[in-house]
Amino acid sequence: MGETFIPLADLRYAAVVPEVPRRAQAPQGLLADRLGRPLRDLRISVTDRCNFRCSYCMPKDVFDKDYRFLPQTSLLSFEEITRLARIFIAQGVVKLRLTGGEPLLRKHLETLVGQLAALRTPAGDAADITLTTNGSLLARKAQALRDAGLQRVTVSLDALDDAVFRRMNDVDFPVADVLAGIEAALHAGLAPVKVNMVVKRGTNDDQIVPLARHMREHYGPQVVLRFIEYMDVGATNGWRMDEVLPSQEVVQRLSAAFPLEALAATAPGETAQRWRYRDGGGEVGVISSVTQAFCRDCNRARLSTEGKLFLCLFASRGHDLRALLRGASPEGTAWSDAQIAAAIGQVWAGRDDRYSELRGALQADAGRGERRVEMHYIGG
Ligand code: SAM
Ligand code: SF4
Ligand code: SF4
Repeated sequence: MGETFIPLADLRYAAVVPEVPRRAQAPQGLLADRLGRPLRDLRISVTDRCNFRCSYCMPKDVFDKDYRFLPQTSLLSFEEITRLARIFIAQGVVKLRLTGGEPLLRKHLETLVGQLAALRTPAGDAADITLTTNGSLLARKAQALRDAGLQRVTVSLDALDDAVFRRMNDVDFPVADVLAGIEAALHAGLAPVKVNMVVKRGTNDDQIVPLARHMREHYGPQVVLRFIEYMDVGATNGWRMDEVLPSQEVVQRLSAAFPLEALAATAPGETAQRWRYRDGGGEVGVISSVTQAFCRDCNRARLSTEGKLFLCLFASRGHDLRALLRGASPEGTAWSDAQIAAAIGQVWAGRDDRYSELRGALQADAGRGERRVEMHYIGG
């Protein structure tokens, strides 16, 4: 089967159906892309919907009542997601992160967590299963998720001040409910909880120190706060470089309030640079996606809600794995796990994405090519 362009009923981003190699080799868990990078981390988007309208991700004027989200039939079922996760794990993935849209809007998500928790790597270990959420429904769901096998959670929180937070989520959602979600996650045994703050200069940069102070004083090492540079993902958020506050400046502001010392990275491909409060008040991190590209070690792939594989957060073209799950070979037989694994292996082997390293040059080219994928559709 050659590479085929498919006209999709719900066409939003271009996709190709991956070629299935004639002779499928059994997965070895040792894939390397064209830059020698392994595949270790799969981010799975379980819905493209969200109850927030953060301006940097789903601005209200674009994602309004007329916006057409994916129809139910387009979504991968839990069984399809689990099958793909099993195949990816055989190909070397050790970490699964559920994301969205808002993943807790997907009904019975704990059932999926349970299915994923039962999978084993070739070495016989469970995969590391984590979730990124806006925290709005976490107080209700933390315990069930933990009981199903969730190991960790990352909560996005852009401000401590209620008025700033309500403005940023743009649906008037109170900060107290997200803080209650963080508490519930800690109670459920999901510590340490990571809390991610996207920093936009002039919008919430005055929240850096208050949020750090709150987390230190209330939770100490139980919560790891991380500051993310505002990124130019997708095509709808009107990104401007002057709204990016470089991580270096975040660290300067923090260390003026609470002296810090640098920590070594714990794992290759780790996105955050880690710091520790000198007084033992815990840890913080900065994710410098714009000012300090970390493509060289990027071992992440992303699976969209309807089963397209994206090799980079800034990709405009996916690889339609759902077509393999639901389709059949020219002989009319369903594709086997080994065949789908081999197709994924071939896609990964051709990967040379490194958008953040090339950002300057590619920005100048923007608008001429295909539309870039949106964050709510493939997750962070
Ligand atoms: N709704 C969930 C949440 O907000 O945690 C999960 C999906 S959200 C797309 C994943 C992460 O992407 C969040 O931490 C969010 O803050 C981050 N994000 C979204 N748009 C971003 C942007 N333009 N720059 C940097 N981070 C962004
Ligand atoms: Fe929703 Fe998360 Fe995007 Fe905010 S960042 S709009 S919470 S998907
Ligand atoms: Fe990975 Fe693409 Fe981000 Fe570079 S820009 S770190 S390749 S996702």
